[in-house]
Amino acid sequence: MQDSKKIVLITGASRGIGLACARAFAKAGYDMYLTCLHSEARLSALKQELETQWHISCRVCLCDAGNHRDVARLFSSIDTLDVLINNAGISYFGLIQDMSFSDWDRVMSTNLNSCFYTVRHAIPLMLAKGQGRIINISSVWGSTGASMETAYSASKGAVNAFTRALAKELAPSNIQVNAASFGVIDTDMNRGFTQEELKQLTDEIPAGRMGSCEEAARLVLQLVRSPAYLTGQIITMDGGWT
Ligand code: NDP
Repeated sequence: MQDSKKIVLITGASRGIGLACARAFAKAGYDMYLTCLHSEARLSALKQELETQWHISCRVCLCDAGNHRDVARLFSSIDTLDVLINNAGISYFGLIQDMSFSDWDRVMSTNLNSCFYTVRHAIPLMLAKGQGRIINISSVWGSTGASMETAYSASKGAVNAFTRALAKELAPSNIQVNAASFGVIDTDMNRGFTQEELKQLTDEIPAGRMGSCEEAARLVLQLVRSPAYLTGQIITMDGGWT
C-alpha cells in the first residue's frame, strides 16, 4: 500500500507503542486519528508536534476503546480510513483466583472487545475504498501464556484467533488483517517491575534487552507496507525469546 494521502487510526496513541506508531506513520505522510483513554494533554501535544514537523493532519480524541458507544462516537467523525491499528491495551498482574470480575471485564473489553468495536465501523469504510489494512497489537503471551497474567494472555490469544478469522473473511475484499505480537517492549506497561525483576527478564531474552517502541512501530509500518498476499499472520518480534 502506498503511504501518501492515506489515513490511519491508532488507538492508545498517548504513550508507548501507539505513540511511536503515530510518529512513524506521520513521518511516512499519513493523516491520522489518534485516541487514548484519558491522557488528553499528551495527545494534544503530540498533535502539535506531528502537524508542525510533518505537515500532516492529526485529529485526536479521548475514546474508551472498550466502550462501544465511545467507539461509535469516534467513528461518527471519520468518513474515510485506510489503516486501523488496534493498539490500546492494558495488562493485569496477579493470581487469577484473586482477580475481580470487573478487572477481568476491563482487560477483555480493552484488549479484545475493542478490536470488534473498531473493525465493525472500519470495515464499511474500507469496503468503500476497495482496500484496507488492519493491524492488531498482540503479545507473545497470547501464544505461550504467562503465569499471573492469565486474563491478559487469554485476551491476546483471542486477538490472535480474531486476526486469523477476520483475515479469511476480508481477504476477498482486499482488506488484509495481521497481528504484530511483541515480547517485552520498553513502555509504561513494564514499569511495575523492579530493577532485579527486569534483569531476570532480560537475561532470559537472547537479544539481552527489551525491544524499543521505535522498533515496534517500524514493524507495524512494515506490515502495513507488506504485499497484499500477507494476511492472517501473527508476526512475532521478541528478541528471540519464545
Ligand atoms: P502503555 O501502557 O505504554 O500505553 C497504553 C496506551 O493505551 C495508552 O495510550 C493508553 O491511554 C491507552 N489505553 C489504555 N486503555 C485504553 C482504553 N480503554 N481506551 C483507549 N486507550 C486506552 O502500553 P504499551 O505501549 O506497552 O502497549 C500497547 C499495546 O502493545 C497493548 O495492546 C499491549 O498489550 C501491547 N503489548 C505491549 C508489550 C510491552 O511489553 N509493552 C508487549 C506485547 C504487547 P492513556 O494514556 O489515556 O492511559
